Amino acid sequence: MTDPQAHAAHRGITVNARGVLARYASFLPVTSATPPLSLQEGDTPLISTPRLAAWVGVSELFVKFEGMNPTGSFKDRGMVVAVAKAVESGARTIMCASTGNTAASAAAYAARAGITAVVLLPRGKVAGAKVSQALAYGARAIALDTGFDAALDVARGLTARYAVELVNSVNPHRIAGQATAAYEICDVLGHAPDVLALPVGNGGNISAYWAGFRRYRDAGYTASLPIIIGGQAAGAAPLVLGHPVDAPDTIASAIRIGRPASWDSAVAAAGESHGEFRAVTDAEILEAYRELSRREGIFCEPSSAAGVAALRASVAAGRTPGDAECVCICTGHGLKDAQFAPALDDHAAPLPATVEAVAAALSLPPRQW
Ligand SMILES: *Cc1c(COP(=O)(O)O)cnc(C)c1O
Repeated sequence: MTDPQAHAAHRGITVNARGVLARYASFLPVTSATPPLSLQEGDTPLISTPRLAAWVGVSELFVKFEGMNPTGSFKDRGMVVAVAKAVESGARTIMCASTGNTAASAAAYAARAGITAVVLLPRGKVAGAKVSQALAYGARAIALDTGFDAALDVARGLTARYAVELVNSVNPHRIAGQATAAYEICDVLGHAPDVLALPVGNGGNISAYWAGFRRYRDAGYTASLPIIIGGQAAGAAPLVLGHPVDAPDTIASAIRIGRPASWDSAVAAAGESHGEFRAVTDAEILEAYRELSRREGIFCEPSSAAGVAALRASVAAGRTPGDAECVCICTGHGLKDAQFAPALDDHAAPLPATVEAVAAALSLPPRQW
């Protein structure tokens, strides 16, 4: 049998450990009793995006495309840790309330670990592809006649009383795992960026990034900390308003949350980093969503674009200087929630299947080479 590590080393290639538990074990609550678990999550692309930078109004912008994780969102980073720790503690069933991506991720890692996932979904408020994903991985899905916030209340109540492990982002292992994205950014850039912008719903991810950047700085791996900008949808912006929102309303379903569970730590992340929460309208979110794909070839889900929209608004307001080195987190993949992407006009009459007809429709000049 060939050893791929040795083979790669022979060719001068370094094969890194894959999956966040293996790569960042010393930064995670991993013990000798923690089972190995991985779908090779993490190590997502940090893409230099000059054409998007021009639109946003900054000189240097990178997009960390978290949609490249195994289930298509950053949720995998924390879920792999939460599920491994649940198995370590003897749990055979995990549970979450979800706007979709947490459910898909919990279901995938439960399948991988050979345990059961139960997902509580607010009826009619979850993108169809995310439900299909969770069901495909074998989750037990229960639709509740409510929004996300009340569904999380039910999950918390159930897991407090019954033999089921809660894997929402209030689970500290989720936050520890999600902090690995901050380590990766610093490892790739060689330093912390000036500004980090990301969408904020329940507030878990912004808390994880802040914890991660501080931990790397305290360990001496980086010298500075980024300013953190949290983008919230205008119709679901409790952290901008400073109070809960009873009926959150936005097309950005992954951040349609009125009572963020990680309120205090999210406020601390924006405040201590000298950053801010910024509300962006659905129109601004969809504009950023289109510019990401058209200018850079990065197709994320609409919610994912809220960080880009918030950064652009912050620059326009004179709050973020144009010479800052910025990183935007694109949290989930575009194929998960494609209803806002352009569609082919099914009503337009199809052309005859001939070279001449298609060439004429495209006004193509004759080939010169
Ligand atoms: C979960 C999620 C968010 C919000 O993250 P929080 O930790 O809840 O603030 C944003 N975008 C996508 C695509 C998500 O799945």
